[in-house]
Amino acid sequence: MTATDGSVEPPTLTGDDVLRIDDADFDADRVALVTGAASGIGRATSLVLAANGLTVVATDVDEEGLVGTRERGTELGFPGEIHPEPADITDDDHLEGVVEAAAGYGDLAYLANIAGMQHISPLDEFPMDVYDTMHEVMLRAPVYLSKLVLPHLRESGGCVGNMASVHGHYVTADKVAYNVAKFGLRGLTQSIAAEGAGTVRSFSVSTGYVKTPLVTDQIPDTAEQRGISVQEVVEDVMLGQSRTKEMMEPVDVGNLFAFGFSKHAHHLNGGDLLFDGGMTLTYE
Ligand code: NAD
Repeated sequence: MTATDGSVEPPTLTGDDVLRIDDADFDADRVALVTGAASGIGRATSLVLAANGLTVVATDVDEEGLVGTRERGTELGFPGEIHPEPADITDDDHLEGVVEAAAGYGDLAYLANIAGMQHISPLDEFPMDVYDTMHEVMLRAPVYLSKLVLPHLRESGGCVGNMASVHGHYVTADKVAYNVAKFGLRGLTQSIAAEGAGTVRSFSVSTGYVKTPLVTDQIPDTAEQRGISVQEVVEDVMLGQSRTKEMMEPVDVGNLFAFGFSKHAHHLNGGDLLFDGGMTLTYE
């Protein structure tokens, strides 16, 4: 969405683009725990799962954002309830509290590890305290949450979905912590599949650029730095390597999580949903 001032705005989710899945397991007794649920892809995934009738426990460090997610679900009349459960996922006590809370709402069956962050710096100068925080948020928390939910998922026949990226397939310079975390998430995904004994499934989702605040906030600065227009940043910088010449929207990613959790993805176990518009598999 391009506003009149030429800036790119993250879209507001409407019910229209939500994938509705016919799955008897998608009902209010079953609980999905979603991290990063205050914004962007985590918010959209929470809303799509609520639209499909699941009870959603939405966690994030941003409490206000979580309220916004719940309110949007109510405004859209989605059948599944969204329960905000604020937490800092770098804190093990918080993680344990969130899983306990989620299990209190019903059969904990799905975990979507989505929270993330970015830091741009060459490896020579990468601040190790930032590296440690990114590791904790993007890799350690998903591992520990998976460990904590596993007994519940073994009972409910559940599934873990991990938000990776094209950066879990190939990398760009100056993003070492992000690259390492995203490759690691694919390892976690495959480990869960290996140990899930066919009862607990897992998958990862890998996309290119998605219209979320994380991305759209950088567009005006990048345009100014490079002396090009906002449109050129989107088309040449962000979608330059992509054959599909429009950015993905958060709802498109939320839909992938819903599909991955559903009965239709029964044979998706340890695999990656690579929805990158051709970015990593083609070149000009
Ligand atoms: P976003 O900034 O909109 O959302 C990230 C959320 O993570 C925020 O709400 C933030 O508060 C939360 N978070 C960060 N640190 C936390 C902590 N310590 N405890 C709890 N919550 C914390 O970003 P987004 O674009 O929606 O990204 C979501 C995920 O998707 C990330 O893992 C990102 O790497 C991945 N991803 C994004 C894109 C994209 O283009 N936007 C592409 C591929 C992958």
